[in-house]
Amino acid sequence: MGELAPAHVRVRVPSKVNLFLRITGVRDDGYHELVTVLQTVSIHDTVVAEIDRSGVSAHPAARRFMELAFTAEGQEGVPLDASNLAVRAARCLMDHLGIGRATSELAGETGSGAGEPVRGPCAVPDDGGEVVLPTATGVPVTRLHLTKRIPIAAGMAGGSADAAAALIALNRLWQADLDLDELRGLAAKLGADVPFCVSGGTALATGTGVTTAQVLARGTYHWVVGITDQPLSTPQVYRAFDEVGVSSDAEPDAVLQALRTGDDEALGAALHNDLQVAAFQLVPELVGRRDAMLAAGALGAIVSGSGPTVVALASSAQQAVRLAAEVEPVFDRVEIALSPAGGPELAGE
Ligand code: ATP
Repeated sequence: MGELAPAHVRVRVPSKVNLFLRITGVRDDGYHELVTVLQTVSIHDTVVAEIDRSGVSAHPAARRFMELAFTAEGQEGVPLDASNLAVRAARCLMDHLGIGRATSELAGETGSGAGEPVRGPCAVPDDGGEVVLPTATGVPVTRLHLTKRIPIAAGMAGGSADAAAALIALNRLWQADLDLDELRGLAAKLGADVPFCVSGGTALATGTGVTTAQVLARGTYHWVVGITDQPLSTPQVYRAFDEVGVSSDAEPDAVLQALRTGDDEALGAALHNDLQVAAFQLVPELVGRRDAMLAAGALGAIVSGSGPTVVALASSAQQAVRLAAEVEPVFDRVEIALSPAGGPELAGE
């Protein structure tokens, strides 16, 4: 605290690839347990959070409440309602901080009946519907804007990255001063990949994926990211895995050792994903797309997470450019990216 509150905060957040993923079991509640090595890659989304205090009531209670407005651009198919993970993250933080719920203190001002909530945790409906700017005045409005570049439902944790970015942006904008551990605690309520996305870098995740530990990674890796427009829902891929998949007995050691020494050839050879067989079952064309990456000279190629994105490791920036050009015809979109890509980057104004 003590610092002047920023009026505008921008967070740029990277996507991820799974360098290793092994399913180790299924819990009674249906959640899969896994061991996975995650690393951020340089395809980013951006979340901008701004606070609008125009028309804010002088009533002291107004300072404790907040409305939320959400907009997004960049790709079709981004949910614009309260199901968007960035909005869910904002609401989660609001609930945690107790700034979302209005009480009778403001009721007199807005004409609502005494004791009735004047507004909910934010001005977006719980289940579906367009997010509309609040029409009521009297309390500050936080405007959250998402620019989406990470492919959607593609196994690159785009939604989780946006949730992490929203937590970090709003923690700063609202001067909540939660530390990274507290943010990761909230993140764990939002989704398995969100705690990793709060920190970024390279991590080993276990359990349902929520428990993460940073691991040593030397060097920079050059990736060709092959994007398939057909989305794959993560639960659907896990269901397919339960039907067709056989858990491997693979261990992450070879990937971890390659990262420790910065050995891209060893990393390419060690890439592993138990979910790949399920993604192949659901989208058979992915087999040929992965094979095209290998035939073009990739050090290794693999479906990332639940897919359908296929990532291929190149030996250099130049080779990545050549490889990307060669496989472009077999994918809907191809990008070149670097890893590790750090974590969410915050810029305030
Ligand atoms: P993971 O790699 O963590 O399994 P993913 O990359 O496969 O995730 P996401 O892009 O996170 O998948 O999207 C999964 C679903 O979540 C989408 O189909 C979409 O409806 C919903 N969703 C909610 N919020 C977002 C968001 N901010 N960006 C993208 N999708 C979102």
